[in-house]
Amino acid sequence: MIGIINLNKEIKKCHKCRLSETGINALCGEGNQNANLMLIAQAPGEKEDREGRMFIGPSGKVLDKLLIKADINRKEIYMTNLIKCMLPKNRKPKQDEIKVCSDYLNEEIKLVNPKILVPLGYYAIKYIFEKYAVSFPSKQEFHTICGNPIVVENKIIFPLQHPASILYDNSREDEMIKNYRKMKILLMNCK
Ligand code: SF4
Repeated sequence: MIGIINLNKEIKKCHKCRLSETGINALCGEGNQNANLMLIAQAPGEKEDREGRMFIGPSGKVLDKLLIKADINRKEIYMTNLIKCMLPKNRKPKQDEIKVCSDYLNEEIKLVNPKILVPLGYYAIKYIFEKYAVSFPSKQEFHTICGNPIVVENKIIFPLQHPASILYDNSREDEMIKNYRKMKILLMNCK
């Protein structure tokens, strides 16, 4: 798909914000460019930044395990980030960084045109909810939206906790496995 190739070239040479000075690689999306489902994570981690690949660090291992349990192959889906460059010391993204970098995500959504958008974690979910004018809950109620699909325009938004959250609190593992299996059902239903 020529559109994605050109977009990725732009991402790789981007210097539109301060994050280009601290990271090694700006990460482009990966996977099936005709996918029905797009996973949207927050930003690359250290290993991803070093090697220029999506989800290859500790959270990638968790993601792989969850995908296997849900019987989803990475080749069936498209994976990308809200912020394309690593956030130093894993800090939170700043509003100006989200504003400038989300143009790339918007373009990817247009080009891949997936039926299901799966934002992972607080910032990606907040961004996608605001983009599609879905009301966003308070921080205290945030957990209640994860795992509940929302239909907007011609898409389904299926917000999920970031796989990395299991690394800090594995009491959520069963719930995450259940939600990834729900994601498989959504994927099968849109074929
Ligand atoms: S984070 Fe996004 S906008 Fe900032 S330099 Fe990287 S690719 Fe460009």
